[in-house]
Amino acid sequence: MTRAIWFIIKVAIVVAIAVWLANHPGTLAINWQGYVVETGIGIAILIGVAALAAGIVLYRLARAILGAPRNYGRYRRSRRRERGYQALTRGMVAVAAGDATTARKMARKADGLLNEPPLTMLLSAQAAQLQGDDRAAKEYFTAMLDRPETAFLGLRGLLTQSLKAGDRVEALQLARRAQSLQPNTPWLLGTLYDLEARSGEWAAAEGTLQQAVQAGAINPDDGRRHRATLLLERSFEAERRGRSDSALSHAQAAHDLLSGFVPAAARAARLQMAIGKHKNAAKTIERCWRVNPHPDLTSAYREVVSSYDPMTRVKLFEKLRNHAPNDVESLLAVARAALDAQLWGEARAHLTKALEMRPSRRVFQLLAELERAERQDEEAARAWLAQAANAPADAAWTCSACNAVSPSWGGLCGHCGAFDSLEWKTPTVSMSLMSPESAPAAITHQVTEPVTGQPGVAPGGQIAPQGAT
Ligand SMILES: [Zn+2]
Repeated sequence: MTRAIWFIIKVAIVVAIAVWLANHPGTLAINWQGYVVETGIGIAILIGVAALAAGIVLYRLARAILGAPRNYGRYRRSRRRERGYQALTRGMVAVAAGDATTARKMARKADGLLNEPPLTMLLSAQAAQLQGDDRAAKEYFTAMLDRPETAFLGLRGLLTQSLKAGDRVEALQLARRAQSLQPNTPWLLGTLYDLEARSGEWAAAEGTLQQAVQAGAINPDDGRRHRATLLLERSFEAERRGRSDSALSHAQAAHDLLSGFVPAAARAARLQMAIGKHKNAAKTIERCWRVNPHPDLTSAYREVVSSYDPMTRVKLFEKLRNHAPNDVESLLAVARAALDAQLWGEARAHLTKALEMRPSRRVFQLLAELERAERQDEEAARAWLAQAANAPADAAWTCSACNAVSPSWGGLCGHCGAFDSLEWKTPTVSMSLMSPESAPAAITHQVTEPVTGQPGVAPGGQIAPQGAT
């Protein structure tokens, strides 16, 4: 519509000029070197316009002819780039599809066509990795470290490689270098935290853990549990260094953080006992018992009340039981104290009730002990022990990463080196118990198995929250 209006306006202007010229006639004369040209003014203007148009056409033609070689070069370069990016795209698709041969072919093609080393180097490295050529991949990743725009990707590639190879010392160095470039990358924080914890760098791991939780790499509940575990390991470390005050304050902090965390309560209670604070120790255990009645707490409580006579001990265990009266662990704890005090009737009553609630090896074993102690009935004892042998395995500290069973709790699995992986549960795969010496509470640097967590997955996030502890 607008165009039509413009056209009409233009036509009107031309017509107006033509009319004006018709109304104002005149002639134009050129006298040059003896030649005389004389024409009407209308014709002269027409010739002038035609000459201008011809000039423009000629100028454009000349420019096209002179600029042809340069334009052709530009066209070829753009074609090259287009083909290069096509190769790059196809290479990436091949990597995603796991087609190593095509990926490598396309990587070479893209490298030849494009002058974009950051992009083609990454593809080349991934293609080499896909073909199982770790040496070539490492060279590409290392070359990427020289450019600021690819350094982080190079470090990520090298980190993945060293994790796969089980080289945790190198992996930790690389992860720290990568973190200095991109401090808030969630997967990196999760990996770094796991590596620091597995290396026994408890204080550093605690700082990284906090950042990992803030970045969303580890959920807050798991984070709290991991932190309690780190605090307990710091408590063990302080004790080894003769710092008993720090040992207690770290254990106390772990217990305050998670009152239902059995290892923290048991350790804090033992350390409180060591400085003569028996009442505080009993309170610590009772507080945890309310949330999580557990055999390790029974053992710790037995130490707390060991200075009393057997009858008083039974009374104190009855008091502990009141914090979780309907739990089978409460019944077993009182039954054990009653057996020690030779209160056979009370022991039998509690064991019978425990047997109704949840038959287990421990119940059968205690019943066998009762038959022997009270009635010297070896036959009945053997019958209970036979049942114990056939009963399903009792819960134990079991590694959620490798299923190894540990006789006592520790921050690191003595078998696979995973951090905070021990859960109180019935082992799913029957595995021989590790000897106590092979499952230290902390530091197992000689672990041979690789870290299972890969960048992209926070290793801390893989550890299942613990129900039983
Ligand atoms: Zn393990």
